Amino acid sequence: MPIYSPWNDKRKFVFGLSFMLLCAFWLTSWLSYQVAHNSLRDQIESNHLPLTSDTVYSEIQRDLLQPIFISSLMAQDTFVRDWAISGEKDAQPIIRYLDNIQQRYQTITSFFVSSHSGRYYHPSGIIKTISSDEPDDAWFYRVSQLPPSQEYEINIDYDTADQSRTTVFVNYKVFDFEEKLIGVTGVGLNIEFVKELIQVYQTRYQRSVYFIDALGNVTLSGANFQGPRNISLRKGLASQAASLLSAAKNSYRFSEDGQQHYLNARYIPEFNWYLIVEQQDVPEIQDLKHTLWINLSISLLVTVCMLIVANFTLGRYQRRLETLASTDKLTGIYNRQTFEGRLEQVIDIQHRANSPCSIIIFDIDHFKQVNDKYGHLVGDKALKKVAEITRQYIRQSDILCRWGGEEFIVLLPNCDALAALEVAEKIRLGVNQSELDIDGNLLTMSISCGIAQIKTHEILASLLVDRADKAMYRAKQNGRNRSVLAE
Ligand code: GH3
Ligand code: MG
Ligand code: MG
Repeated sequence: MPIYSPWNDKRKFVFGLSFMLLCAFWLTSWLSYQVAHNSLRDQIESNHLPLTSDTVYSEIQRDLLQPIFISSLMAQDTFVRDWAISGEKDAQPIIRYLDNIQQRYQTITSFFVSSHSGRYYHPSGIIKTISSDEPDDAWFYRVSQLPPSQEYEINIDYDTADQSRTTVFVNYKVFDFEEKLIGVTGVGLNIEFVKELIQVYQTRYQRSVYFIDALGNVTLSGANFQGPRNISLRKGLASQAASLLSAAKNSYRFSEDGQQHYLNARYIPEFNWYLIVEQQDVPEIQDLKHTLWINLSISLLVTVCMLIVANFTLGRYQRRLETLASTDKLTGIYNRQTFEGRLEQVIDIQHRANSPCSIIIFDIDHFKQVNDKYGHLVGDKALKKVAEITRQYIRQSDILCRWGGEEFIVLLPNCDALAALEVAEKIRLGVNQSELDIDGNLLTMSISCGIAQIKTHEILASLLVDRADKAMYRAKQNGRNRSVLAE
């Protein structure tokens, strides 16, 4: 049978209360954190990043598209086409034309390469004759074989003179009037200033800005770009790279090295590139996390304080209730119910330890007369006095109880009947010899005691009490104010 323990109840209550408080605190803190976090995230995804992308794109669009327009004009130019169709007789006009283009548009190069002769015309003259065996000339054959729908290709290359300088080559197909390919023309543009512009935006918005081609390779970025050269090599983005390279415009979120990243991709058809604007978690999110931790710490502190206060208050009330329930209101000693429980425990322990154990039952003689003569209140005080006197003659380990009315029991562990008889006599004499001054009334009382020692095989406490009670009855019969040992 499980033993009932009020301590268990209290513990359950206090822990239950703390648990509920913590859950409630945690839930509210977490919910408000989530709401704030989500709204910040939405703002980044649907507002900040697309806006930055729009701004950056509209700023650099003109500069990036200009070489395409120039090259398109060159490819459509009737002079260029007539001159090529008529057999490239004199190189000077086309050289002058290319020089003029380079001067006017501030390009770093301009060129026309003839399909018929293979000559590479440049503002400085005929540089060379291209050959299909030459790897450096591969670009020409690649452009020549572009599908009809694709009129040009963009080729980003490092300048041979200055490796830190990036050049955009636009290679535009030139057709005769019967749509037959007669060459490739175009310009090369230094786009260092575009990179510088990207850098300015990066610093201003604290976001990464760069371009990738249809294969995910980074084509154009600010000076201090640090990521891998291909988007699919990004740890957190590998699984989304394919979808990124097929959508026209999209937002992505991924985590990398424990950091949340946000990315916006916009397709630029003229280049077949994507403009990427990317950023990590904003400082505000860190602030939110910080606030969450502060909230949780305060909640924990409040819960601990509540726990201490609840524990203390409950403990006090519990002790008070226990005392009320276990003691006799008038005398402050154990009541019968508590005593019976203790008696059984002590008998059990004494049996196991094979130690003697005795009880004394005593009853105040002619107590009715005290009540009758002095009244009930004086009778009550007399009962308290008897309890006080008894306490003086027993050990700390002995258990004193008001058995009922004016009857008391003392339980004496580790005490045989003879020693108990001695104690009973001391109490009897103590009560009898003290002249009690109660509210000016001098009162002499006596008690009759019955003593019994627990027998070796006596398990029932009631039998022990019964034997002591019978002994006390004999003491009454034999003239009162005496102690009698049970048989
Ligand atoms: P005996 O020597 O045979 O024990 O005589 P007695 O008068 O003590 O016997 P009895 O048991 O008849 O009377 C006990 C009296 O104790 C009766 C009852 O009114 C009184 N009494 C019991 N409890 C209390 C109490 O709490 N306060 C007071 N004042 N009196 C009580
Ligand atoms: Mg009596
Ligand atoms: Mg009585």
